[in-house]
Amino acid sequence: MIQLYIPLNFLGVIYREIKQSLADMERLFALLDENREVADAKDARPLVTQGAAVRFNHVDFSYEAKRQILFDVDFTIPAGTTTAVVGHSGSGKSTLSRLLYRFYEVNGGAITIDGQDLRAVTQDSLRHAIGIVPQDTVLFNDTIEYNIGYGKPGATHDEIVAAARAASIHDFIDSLPDGYRTMVGERGLKLSGGEKQRVAIARTLLKNPAILIFDEATSALDSKSEQAIQAQLKEIAKNRTTMVIAHRLSTVADAHQILVLDHGRIVERGTHAALLAADGVYAQMWARQQARADAPEEAVAGVDA
Ligand code: ADP
Ligand code: MG
Repeated sequence: MIQLYIPLNFLGVIYREIKQSLADMERLFALLDENREVADAKDARPLVTQGAAVRFNHVDFSYEAKRQILFDVDFTIPAGTTTAVVGHSGSGKSTLSRLLYRFYEVNGGAITIDGQDLRAVTQDSLRHAIGIVPQDTVLFNDTIEYNIGYGKPGATHDEIVAAARAASIHDFIDSLPDGYRTMVGERGLKLSGGEKQRVAIARTLLKNPAILIFDEATSALDSKSEQAIQAQLKEIAKNRTTMVIAHRLSTVADAHQILVLDHGRIVERGTHAALLAADGVYAQMWARQQARADAPEEAVAGVDA
């Protein structure tokens, strides 16, 4: 029995390693899977952006035949401006960003960037033009340098450091014994939610895309980190075409345009001031969140709750 103990324990270690790699593979396949139904058209051309105006032209969409998710969604994000999308959980906000990234094909209508239908351009060029700061940043089991550099294949160390500085994470990295060579991810140093968000921001800065998508969900962060990150997001959104999926209305008050989505339909649109004046769905959401903001702790629940 004693003799068996060591090998079994050893196998246990290997097993954990394999399981970990499988978890990584799963993520990879999940990503590939989402892409499977979308292929480049035979005559697909590279997307050419000049300011990158985004247009959703009467878009209908369903993931499954029987259940329509988006209904006649029609809006424009003028080049270089920010549009926020708000609405209850399940209203279709993240679906808009998945369609813009062309993880899925629209069922009706069209999406264009500077007049070019997404179906007519190469996916490679499309994804090059779009940077996403997601709800939950996945870190690779690799160095922090790799995790930031991933935003731009072939980026130099200096470029990576510059991006880290701009995302206010350089000092933190510099303070680690192994600096930029620190292993992160599930098998390395665990980063906090705010640090992971900053890595995602640094990646995006390095990528320098014409279009940005933020699926906020900074609600997992304490309010000081959240405010700092909001300020940073605002900075990188300046003069870029930006879609912000907002969970807390306080973060979208200065968007050029706010869309209120309800069960897959745009039910209101306008600036924060105009929507408050209209005294409709948005004004109600705002009043509810303000009330909650006065009650500590629960303030973080946001619209999405
Ligand atoms: P939101 O971001 O506003 O919370 P989503 O866009 O993620 O909402 O989802 C809109 C609706 O689409 C929800 O009812 C959700 O259950 C459904 N949905 C999301 N992803 C899928 C999927 N991959 N397959 C089927 N239904 C989905
Ligand atoms: Mg969502």
